[in-house]
Amino acid sequence: MSQDHHGARRVGQVKEVTSLSNPIVKDIKALANKKDRDETKSFMAEGLKLVIDALELGFEIKTLVYAKNVKDKPQVVQAATKTVARGGLVLEVSEKVLSSITRRDNPQMVVGIFTQRWTSLRDIRPKAGETYVALDRVRDPGNLGTIIRTADAAGASGVILIGETTDPYSMETVRATMGSVFALPLVKASPADFLAWKKGAGVSVVATHLAGAVDYRTIDYRKKPVVLLMGNEQQGLPDELAREADALARIPQAGLADSLNLAIATGIMLFEARRHLLTLEERE
Ligand code: SAM
Repeated sequence: MSQDHHGARRVGQVKEVTSLSNPIVKDIKALANKKDRDETKSFMAEGLKLVIDALELGFEIKTLVYAKNVKDKPQVVQAATKTVARGGLVLEVSEKVLSSITRRDNPQMVVGIFTQRWTSLRDIRPKAGETYVALDRVRDPGNLGTIIRTADAAGASGVILIGETTDPYSMETVRATMGSVFALPLVKASPADFLAWKKGAGVSVVATHLAGAVDYRTIDYRKKPVVLLMGNEQQGLPDELAREADALARIPQAGLADSLNLAIATGIMLFEARRHLLTLEERE
């Protein structure tokens, strides 16, 4: 066993790390900051299932981290082999190190550091039967994660983030997606780029608005590919986006609440827009 320049012991192609002050551990911990995620274009996903899904979907893995006590689990061994084969680093660590990396008392035993994947708006060419979600300045990481998960579950084809939004690759959002962050193309766009794209994309933009005149259940979602445009949690949709929509839809409400939570409203819209496409038949 040799000592490398980071002070970690090498076991074959696996590095064993127990010190919280190890520089690799520090770099991983820094991914809690958006600045560090942006600079390194990476993010952390927690849990063996997520890591396996991401590897299967061809996400580039930079580092695989696992607790020593799960090192002999066949799926962990497989994930480690794949990581090494793809040029990634494998770290075998103590639970203390995993707790510190994930900032949790009961951490997941496996964590992967992956390269972020962004799709460009011009590569989004909606086809018949497709549904996209476009979110105006979404602020809340939990909302965004829940929306990505729900969009995946409803069979949507992508999520477009308009303007300044919370980061889909933050730890909190990735957690809330429960793995769906790997399943859907994510796109960033300015309002102007979105509106320019809309002109040539052959889509029907259904915007949701508390002042919408159209009951969301009366809209024909089959005519064209649909983009469901959702407003910011505090301010709702700005006029510049609302006036360009093909329909301004409202979900009728009862009770005292002024509005629905953004993620809930998105879920309701998604399952209505895709109602004719979803069945209980076996998934592939
Ligand atoms: N104060 C904000 C406003 O005046 O629009 C409330 C925004 S609401 C919390 C966030 C987003 O969820 C809205 O912009 C809209 O896209 C959607 N939404 C929530 N309730 C809705 C409803 N009843 N009908 C249509 N959209 C709704």
